[in-house]
Amino acid sequence: MKVPFVDLRAQYQTIKEDVQEAVLAVMERGDFVLGGKVTEFEKAFAEYCGSEYGIGVDSGYSALEILVQAYDIGAGDEVITSANTFIATTLAITNSGAVPVLVDMDPKTYNIDPAKIEAAITPNTKAIMPVHLYGQPADMEAIMEIAEKHNLIVIEDASQAHGSKVNGKRVGAMGHAAGFSLYPGKNLGGYGDAGIITTDDPKIDEKCRMLRNLGMKVKYYHDIKGYNHRLDTMQAAVLCVKLPHLDDWSQNRRNAAARYTEKLQGLNVITPSVPDWAEPVYHLYVIQVEDRDGLQKHLGDAGIQSGIHYPIPIHMQDAYAELPYSEGDFPETEGYAKKILSLPIYPEITDEMIDYVAAKVAEFTG
Ligand SMILES: *Cc1c(COP(=O)(O)O)cnc(C)c1O
Repeated sequence: MKVPFVDLRAQYQTIKEDVQEAVLAVMERGDFVLGGKVTEFEKAFAEYCGSEYGIGVDSGYSALEILVQAYDIGAGDEVITSANTFIATTLAITNSGAVPVLVDMDPKTYNIDPAKIEAAITPNTKAIMPVHLYGQPADMEAIMEIAEKHNLIVIEDASQAHGSKVNGKRVGAMGHAAGFSLYPGKNLGGYGDAGIITTDDPKIDEKCRMLRNLGMKVKYYHDIKGYNHRLDTMQAAVLCVKLPHLDDWSQNRRNAAARYTEKLQGLNVITPSVPDWAEPVYHLYVIQVEDRDGLQKHLGDAGIQSGIHYPIPIHMQDAYAELPYSEGDFPETEGYAKKILSLPIYPEITDEMIDYVAAKVAEFTG
């Protein structure tokens, strides 16, 4: 049996006719840039999250970069974020001229540890950027309490967690604003790069719209220096077709995760743990195992793809040699990076595939 890490073609087969019709209709209408489907998707996605506004952009990275700048965060400012994240989170901060201040992860949830945030706050701190990693929401209630106490902006990096909930409330509607990636492999993805911002703040909505579109509100009148970071209309058409399926797909992911957790019970691996206030959407199913590289090879030999998210923490990447950190500063994140392995998970994965993967993990770990 072959088990791919994700299978985008399997999902396409289930929605093929609707997608083709929607994309062809864009060509018939000819509204290729900021067309009707962009507005339709922005409204539908904001409503799905429980936010007032949605601003479609060309990637998750752009969503975060635009947000940092929409809040006037730049040179001399600090943004607190998780040491355990994908580098796009911190690039949005550093490419805006600000400094990322890293906080170690909570070993249970793999997300930023709220108990360690206050020690990282300085007079230069402007914002906290929690990341809902692997589809598990960060502890937003604790984070918002700290933010209110210290008058900080909270920008959620929700790129891996479309639809996940904290006490019944969806991510993207708990911070002051959020950025989502709509990269093809994300839980909700286009057929190319895409992203979206959500917020309840009309001023931030307006500023983000200007920043994504060359700094203009009225064509050829440029109030600020913006970018070309617009969401493509064809991607929006695909996303409009996909959004109504998202909750079913998330449920399939939760079912797959539950089956893995049950089958891996009693083995020498640590499976994900979920706080009682969280409803995750399992962008990734990450286990910890002592001989990670050995297990990855064993699975690969059996036709099973797996991944490591992420092998090198941010503060140990060459790109961030300038940051004032060294090995040992974030022991949870560093220790964990050596043991983690992401098993295949996607809405269309079958029970037989999961059982096969679990059997191969059992064979290796004994
Ligand atoms: C995917 C991802 C991003 C960046 O999204 P792109 O659409 O690839 O630019 C940012 N943060 C996290 C946590 C991600 O997983």
